[in-house]
Amino acid sequence: MNVFVLNCGSSSLKFQIIKTGDDLMEKNEDITLCKGLVERIGGPAMVSIKVNDKTVLDTEPVLHDHTQAIKYIIDWIVSGEVSIPGIKSLADINAVGHRTVHGAEDFNSSVMITDEVIASLEANVELAPLHNPANIMGIRAAIEVFGHDMPQVAVFDTAFHSTMPPENYLYAIPYELYKKYKIRKYGFHGTSHRYVAERWREITGHNVEETNVITLHLGNGASMDCIKNGKSFDTSMGFTPLEGLVMGTRCGDIDPSVLEFIMKKENLDVAGAIKILNKDSGVKGVSGLTNDFRDLEGAMHDNPRAMLALNMFAQRIKKYIGSYMAQLNGTKALIFTGGIGENSITMRQMIMENLEQMGIIFDSEKNKNFKRGVECLLSADNSPIAVYIIPTNEELVIARDTFCIISGIPCM
Ligand code: ADP
Repeated sequence: MNVFVLNCGSSSLKFQIIKTGDDLMEKNEDITLCKGLVERIGGPAMVSIKVNDKTVLDTEPVLHDHTQAIKYIIDWIVSGEVSIPGIKSLADINAVGHRTVHGAEDFNSSVMITDEVIASLEANVELAPLHNPANIMGIRAAIEVFGHDMPQVAVFDTAFHSTMPPENYLYAIPYELYKKYKIRKYGFHGTSHRYVAERWREITGHNVEETNVITLHLGNGASMDCIKNGKSFDTSMGFTPLEGLVMGTRCGDIDPSVLEFIMKKENLDVAGAIKILNKDSGVKGVSGLTNDFRDLEGAMHDNPRAMLALNMFAQRIKKYIGSYMAQLNGTKALIFTGGIGENSITMRQMIMENLEQMGIIFDSEKNKNFKRGVECLLSADNSPIAVYIIPTNEELVIARDTFCIISGIPCM
């Protein structure tokens, strides 16, 4: 089955066409036929498409909305200008899988998209005002381009975390506020945490019940997951992605009173103060430089605030490792993923330093010699706890879930 995987933002979209199926999934041989990105939808847009990681299209058409953007991509793909194996016409695309951010308490797994599902997503817009409207727009656009008969599946960032127990998902605020407004921890990046934990299981031959691991998805948005018996037991992001780790531009955990204080002192409304915490904070806010870890690492030896920002990022992660190990009574493995987790030798080293007493013996040489994009073990042979890099692949999970839901077989 060829699945068109779609990840819509408010003015951008990312897509991949992935060939998957029982046999391919079993051998881990699913094939990405092509992938691409459309930015600045709403005017002169930027479209780039890659086949086998080679750019085959790089152009700037005017695209007014997501429907036009999807139509533009599909028309180009079936035009035959560059041959994409197995894709000659629209009929060669068998399903659409949507990355959908917030399923609230309504969805604890991926689902076939129906009118009722769209209505539920709309009802939950309040919980994810930045993301769900874009996801709904993407779903409607895909219906317009592919027609009502095309099966479409929603895969939620929050679904994996639906197994958290109430003592971990509730905030210690009046219970009625949870009941009335669904104020609780939802967690995000679930597709990524789920994928890397599942891969760890496959690589090491453990069963689901033995899957007690801590996953670290470290990208511009960053979160950690405490996985107990193969299920999400606790996670660092919360009601929104603002909670938890120090991130590229988000502050992570903070005393909520700071919000009121900033509002008073800077004469801001709530939205203005929250914007500071979401967009101007994190390593960017602390360093005063950038949220790009490559640049911060380049500057850290000359610029004390770049060093401070990176230390704060690493220290917050250590705190979460400690707390999750206490929740799990140890852990079998720590798994790094995401742009920083997969690529930053310096940050992995900073996080993993001085954890020997906790049973983590990190091998700096293995860390330095890691191969980009490849699953590898970074802990010493005598380390009681293993440390891995497992590159994430959220699009693959979306394609596989789409296949499984349509075929009526359980998702992994
Ligand atoms: P998101 O998907 O949340 O936007 P990514 O997972 O793509 O983020 O990660 C982006 C981050 O990864 C950026 O901060 C970038 O600097 C960092 N990154 C990518 N490659 C490297 C590298 N070689 N060294 C350090 N940081 C890197």
